[in-house]
Amino acid sequence: MDTRLLDILVCPICKGPLDHDKKAQELICKADRLAYPIRDGIPIMWADQARDLQVASAAD
Ligand SMILES: [Zn+2]
Repeated sequence: MDTRLLDILVCPICKGPLDHDKKAQELICKADRLAYPIRDGIPIMWADQARDLQVASAAD
């Protein structure tokens, strides 16, 4: 997807920057430990759609 689009996307909860996990197709907010899914190239920026990273064990 367009990386410039990612530059303007912020977390809807904390308004912080997001990391793009290209492999998982998710946008990661490290502050909230949430992963927002990208479906068909469109980021789903809804808190209730986000995956909780505190439960899953991150590879890093
Ligand atoms: Zn956040």
